[in-house]
Amino acid sequence: MAEHGTDVLAVSVGSDLPYLTGYEAMPLERLTMLVVPSGGEATLVVPRLEAPRVTTAEGLVTVRPWDELEDPVAIVADLVRRPGRAAVGDTMWARFLVDLLDHWPTTRFQRASEVLGPLRMRKDPAEVAALRAAAAAVDRIAAALQAGEIALVGRTEAQVSADIGRRILDEGHERVNFAIVAAGANAASPHHEAGERVIGPDELVLCDFGGTMAGYCSDITRCVVTGDVPADIAEAYDVLQAAQAAGVAAGQIGATCQEVDRACRAIIADAGYGAAFIHRTGHGIGMEAHEDPYIIEGNAAPIEAGFAYSVEPGIYLPGRWGMRLEDIVVAAADGPDALNRADHGLVPVG
Ligand code: ZN
Ligand code: ZN
Ligand code: ZN
Repeated sequence: MAEHGTDVLAVSVGSDLPYLTGYEAMPLERLTMLVVPSGGEATLVVPRLEAPRVTTAEGLVTVRPWDELEDPVAIVADLVRRPGRAAVGDTMWARFLVDLLDHWPTTRFQRASEVLGPLRMRKDPAEVAALRAAAAAVDRIAAALQAGEIALVGRTEAQVSADIGRRILDEGHERVNFAIVAAGANAASPHHEAGERVIGPDELVLCDFGGTMAGYCSDITRCVVTGDVPADIAEAYDVLQAAQAAGVAAGQIGATCQEVDRACRAIIADAGYGAAFIHRTGHGIGMEAHEDPYIIEGNAAPIEAGFAYSVEPGIYLPGRWGMRLEDIVVAAADGPDALNRADHGLVPVG
């Protein structure tokens, strides 16, 4: 906070609060806010009725329960009088920030991620272990998909998505974050929402799924083909697989985030699909499915040990097909550690 000139850090709904204290605020209109003045004592302002759930933060912070008829924003504002600069949680409700603006009219605001991002990006060994366990869990689901154990042909995308979601929970995640199932031309929309389309034979089916396990996220994409692989798809997939492997290999400590993006993009562009790779190469992952660092042109931040991020290039031809291949990688002294080990090929099933 001193480095950033931050006088007070205020975090609420989202992952910053559990990252710092182990306590997660209910996403409610009633304010829960951790207030950390620079060099001062941390206070957790929490609704009286939520106070009994605040156990993990005991001894770490002073708990200040507020009663229904009190103004919690005034309580927060009184903890730090007119700070020069305040960092507020990126996912804090606007209603709290708008009210804080009235109480702190001269304060300059910044995103809490400016202060916390550099801490949260560097995963410690326990965090890496949690990410590894979550990755292994979704790897088993990907392996089941590739082994033909998840029926595809004749079922709707939504049915397959529900099936994958159940497996995510059965594998030990406490939460399903997404289970994209996109067949045929639907796969050309990277975040296609699984729908009523019935999966047919000889189609590429893109599955991108993940959840939260012991507080940390999984995220994997694999594509399978229901039968014979059309020649144009097979050719493009070879390019995609080479690009993704190059991106993983580029994640050396000291290389920049944008160099990982460039490593993927160069191979796809050389093969003539440059315009069809319409998104960044990846995102950081941890307590949130998407967090710093982003693997994108323009991010010249050097990769440090413990950075965890996805490498997920894709090729999308609207009206025809789409494909993506995604692993989670942790940067380590002895080279990039790809947590996902499920077969990287375009596996024919059924
Ligand atoms: Zn995505
Ligand atoms: Zn994904
Ligand atoms: Zn991802």
